[in-house]
Amino acid sequence: MSVDATPQPAEGATPPAEAARAAFPAPIARRTLVPVSFELYPPRTDAGRVSLDRTIDHLASIDPGFISVTYGAGGTSGGRSLEVLRGIRARTSVEPLAHLTCVGNTYAGATTLIREFLDAGILSFLALRGDPPEGSVEGDDFLGDLGSAAELVQLIHRAQAERAQYAETSLSDVPGAAVVGVPNRARIAVAAFPNGHPRSRGVSQDIDTLLSKQAAGATLAITQLFFHADHYLAFVARAKAAGVTMPILPGIMPITTPGRLRRVLELSGEEVPAELEIALQVEPDDEGRVQIGIEYAAQLCRDVLAGGAPGIHLYAFNEYKTVLAVLEAAGLLADLPFHSIPRVLRPARSRRTVFQTP
Ligand code: FAD
Repeated sequence: MSVDATPQPAEGATPPAEAARAAFPAPIARRTLVPVSFELYPPRTDAGRVSLDRTIDHLASIDPGFISVTYGAGGTSGGRSLEVLRGIRARTSVEPLAHLTCVGNTYAGATTLIREFLDAGILSFLALRGDPPEGSVEGDDFLGDLGSAAELVQLIHRAQAERAQYAETSLSDVPGAAVVGVPNRARIAVAAFPNGHPRSRGVSQDIDTLLSKQAAGATLAITQLFFHADHYLAFVARAKAAGVTMPILPGIMPITTPGRLRRVLELSGEEVPAELEIALQVEPDDEGRVQIGIEYAAQLCRDVLAGGAPGIHLYAFNEYKTVLAVLEAAGLLADLPFHSIPRVLRPARSRRTVFQTP
């Protein structure tokens, strides 16, 4: 889901920076029991930036595999995305993952953009075609030099390979000496659509598209939001049968108001989840609606994990309380420090990253 595709929750109503700072208590130490990641978008106001720092601290406190930051198609949020990614790097030990889009860009422009992110130390990307620019719809001629996300995946790998043909590690005990090693390869995720991309002719085209992204060098897929675990699980089963070997991470969005549900359905083209829609409409109380959204998303988490999902990717809307409450309700947070989690419950090395090893 993209930044511009998501409603901007109450940003206009965000309190001034000081008030926002005071509104967030210090994070408490919890740990996730499965690989978890979050999506944020670049804020548009100073107060939004301050509260986002607090959000990042809270999200980082549960040790997620990565935090991704959306990118406005056509470069509308490039600088702001990079600023948030830099902030994640500076404030936490969590891997920052940059969404990048190629809509409307030239090869030279896209290469410069990729280099800018690599120079900032960003090595994980979500390579996307991008939403149609304002005023355009699917099918219009709005692409630039790159025709698809798969081409962007290749370009990122090429830019990284050119930039770091070899990697040098200094030898601390021998002044001026260095050993030459294998360069860090960029880790590239791509989007997947369990209920079909609006432009796709059918599920086999969605799976072919995913296969082409994998062939281009992607090692992780993150799904568009969905409302029924079966839709995700059936898509994953078909993708695997067709030869997709990279993990497909379910993207789950807690929806806590009828307005947000309406907007998200409009933008994603997903089918109306009748049960959730009715529950949100009949509940008279704000807090009650939040609980409904949390419980619905928590149940989705439980169901996809029971069906074999490699982790959970949560669309956080730049807030931490709701997504952490979802993980709590799904039974995915532990109070204990990692080393004291019983070994059988302790996730393997993959806990911090769900990227497939190339
Ligand atoms: P692609 O994989 O390139 O293609 C999408 C569809 O078009 C496929 O169905 C494919 O079969 C079809 N297609 C591709 N090329 C052709 C062709 N030549 N002829 C016919 N059909 C073709 N958008 C943003 O702008 N910023 C973001 O930060 C952002 N984050 C997202 C995060 C996630 C997890 C997801 C799922 C989506 C995100 N999006 C974002 C939205 C995304 O950019 C749009 O959904 C876009 O329409 C598709 O992007 P893609 O990378 O899947 O495109």
